[in-house]
Amino acid sequence: MTFEAFGRLCRELAATPRRLPKIALVADALRRLDPEEVPWAVAFLAGRPLPSSDPRDLGVSWATLARVRERAAPTPRRGGLTLLEAARAFEAIAAATGAGSRREKARLLADLLGRASREEAETLVHILMGEMRIGVHEGLIQEAVARAAGVDAQVIRRAALFLGDLSEVARVALAEGAERLGAARPRLFVPLLPMMAEMAEGLEEVFEEHAGQTALEVKYDGARIQLHKAGDEVRIWSRRLSEVTASLPDITELVRTRLRAREAILDGEVVAIGAEGRPLPFQELMRRFRRVHGVAETARGLPLALYLFDCLYLDGRSLIDEPYRARWGELERISGGRDLARRIVPAGLGEAEAFLAEALAAGHEGVMAKALASPYTPGVRGRRWFKVKPAERLDCVIVAADWGSGRRRGWLSNYHLAVRDEASGGFAEVGKTFKGLTDAEFATMTDWLLALKAAEDGVTVRVRPEVVVEVGYNEIQRSAHYPSGFALRFARITRIRDDKSPAQADTLARLRQLYDRQFEAKARTARLR
Ligand code: AMP
Repeated sequence: MTFEAFGRLCRELAATPRRLPKIALVADALRRLDPEEVPWAVAFLAGRPLPSSDPRDLGVSWATLARVRERAAPTPRRGGLTLLEAARAFEAIAAATGAGSRREKARLLADLLGRASREEAETLVHILMGEMRIGVHEGLIQEAVARAAGVDAQVIRRAALFLGDLSEVARVALAEGAERLGAARPRLFVPLLPMMAEMAEGLEEVFEEHAGQTALEVKYDGARIQLHKAGDEVRIWSRRLSEVTASLPDITELVRTRLRAREAILDGEVVAIGAEGRPLPFQELMRRFRRVHGVAETARGLPLALYLFDCLYLDGRSLIDEPYRARWGELERISGGRDLARRIVPAGLGEAEAFLAEALAAGHEGVMAKALASPYTPGVRGRRWFKVKPAERLDCVIVAADWGSGRRRGWLSNYHLAVRDEASGGFAEVGKTFKGLTDAEFATMTDWLLALKAAEDGVTVRVRPEVVVEVGYNEIQRSAHYPSGFALRFARITRIRDDKSPAQADTLARLRQLYDRQFEAKARTARLR
């Protein structure tokens, strides 16, 4: 394909707002490409100069790009680039490293832009900036690949999770067909998206969902890593699939020397350890990841602990469809029981609660609960893995209540909870709950609220804001539904605070602050790229 034709495709896509015609355009183009062009066209459409599995970065800054563009103003007469020539040029720019590489990159870039026509140059710059402005995201490309290859979109999505790189998926789909894709499985040195967990309300929910067949592991507050080993070669990726091998020489060495397996893909968490053997704050760990120079010195000054918790591939065999119980068995065997997450298979709720309490006492944020029979589902956040953290608490005011139905008929049993909005002097709703009270308390609460009734529409009784309750919740979420802008996840009443007046209830400002703190805690892991 000529690069001019690719640019034309982009302009056509930009001018086509609807999804299906867009998919048809991309599918049609993919079908007409040579096999070796396919991975590149997919990368370019996604706004990437290199396929996403390529660990290299072009290393061209905005400033360089702007400067080069000014100098190498393309003329309409030039042009005639091919898609593969553009690809080779991007590869050459990425390959320039070491002393003088900035100049070399700029030179190569100037050369490329100098050869391009005005339109071609514009498309090249869009790719370099990662901003195609054609309304084509990965999901759409997946569907187009499915269509071009005559393969079910589901198969493409699954393969994308395993191969971690849509360019590669497209290449295999178009060149080798559905069968090869359906058999997609983890491959050494191609990182897979990590499996993720859902928040549980508590251990009871976990026991119910996993039918008692669950294992608990300590939830370490560090950074997720995926380790690949083949013989003496060990490479490591972060949760976002950036390669971090160079930042972790000690972990690499540890896996190389200790692991009793020729080939393996392992999932785990690294935690920075302070002088007294206590885990260090996450910021310290980040220093290691950002560090490129003097890694060895930092490694000595900031030791890391490794906690492995899964094994996805072992000596030529994919384990992801094996039950977690069996994967853990293999992990135990090849690690000799070292560097593993602390774990129990609790016989009952009591034992589980004791393990959670112990983890919290040791300074961890909670535990993970994993269904013993579950496969490893890359990139999926589901109920096979739960995070269990202790509930947070806030004092809220009841501003309204709904009449109950069924067993709760005749009682006001669904309470609208609010925090104090200091700015307006009123109360801002943050959720509802019918959980936490005994039958006797429901009855008392109903009398109490009816005495405070301000309005009623048959379903909901609005009351004067006087009753304060302590509310347990697991997470604060952003909400478009409530005017406060927030909603409490898994809210339940943990105590009736008849000792507190509404003026002593928690405020919207405090809720916002708690949300920010929670958000920061999440962002810390997300930022690890
Ligand atoms: P979250 O980021 O809040 O969704 O929590 C899930 C994260 O906890 C994972 O991505 C891991 O980085 C981390 N984690 C810590 N310990 C474990 C464990 N034993 N099993 C799985 N994930 C863990």
